[in-house]
Amino acid sequence: MTESEFKRAKCPKCDNENPRMLHEEPDKSQVLYYSMQGTPVYARRMKCGKCGAFFAKE
Ligand SMILES: [Zn+2]
Repeated sequence: MTESEFKRAKCPKCDNENPRMLHEEPDKSQVLYYSMQGTPVYARRMKCGKCGAFFAKE
């Protein structure tokens, strides 16, 4: 992921919007689709490094 692709996210719980405190990770409970190779593509979610809340990425 390059910096230009980064979409500014903000924690709905504590209003933290520091990119260094927000981590994007795959939400393995949500499979979006399977790629042609058969590997699952997961939804992404954001985790707040400040308060620990998870929230959906837009
Ligand atoms: Zn937070």
